Amino acid sequence: MAVPKRSRFLLLGALGKRSRKRMYLRFLIVISSLFFLISCNSTTATVDGNCISQNASRFIEPEKSLYNLPFGVGEGYQLGQGNCTFHTHSTESKSEFAFDFIMDIGTPIHAARSGQVVSIEDRFFDGNRIGSDFNHIIIAHENNTFSSYIHLTNAGVIVEPGEYVNQGDVIGYSGDTGMSSAPHLHFEVFQTNDDCFKKGVDGRCPTIPVSFKNASPSDKILTHGLVYTAL
Ligand SMILES: [Zn+2]
Repeated sequence: MAVPKRSRFLLLGALGKRSRKRMYLRFLIVISSLFFLISCNSTTATVDGNCISQNASRFIEPEKSLYNLPFGVGEGYQLGQGNCTFHTHSTESKSEFAFDFIMDIGTPIHAARSGQVVSIEDRFFDGNRIGSDFNHIIIAHENNTFSSYIHLTNAGVIVEPGEYVNQGDVIGYSGDTGMSSAPHLHFEVFQTNDDCFKKGVDGRCPTIPVSFKNASPSDKILTHGLVYTAL
């Protein structure tokens, strides 16, 4: 069935009433989180050492991580902006544990972790520089965690809401949509909770620290500016 505008959330009709209500609340959180995901400014940001040191114990050893780097095995990309960088990946932005991997428009994006697609958007055009107009994929995991793949290219999403994807599957293609200073993938994992739910669209669910089990070098906390290769 042709769908002119790909901006859709998981269809709820097939779920029971209680499940529908629970999933709907989840979507409100997801949507409210997206409103705040507006800006990346790769390469010029500087690291907030306090943010890193205060959260260091929250990162787990890479070999125990549930996540792979969100690109193909054998490929390496520079972390143009890492965790705890001022402005767009800061504690204030609530994207402090986000990653910006610098890559050309059209680079295949692979699922960092298996899960169910809950939201997609790919109608916007690269280079638009409009904060609210970014293409994305959001995949739900256990414990109310969600992976976000942001700034994807126009028509660059190849999965559907409701679809279950396996870790490593190609799910879309990188781009430069939304408030982005150059082509890159913004990847982050966030977790919904009662607090961000109560705040509704005025709140934002916090990003959580992640490491990647297939990253080389195998850093627990990825270093801003380094190239990381997926093994
Ligand atoms: Zn970013």
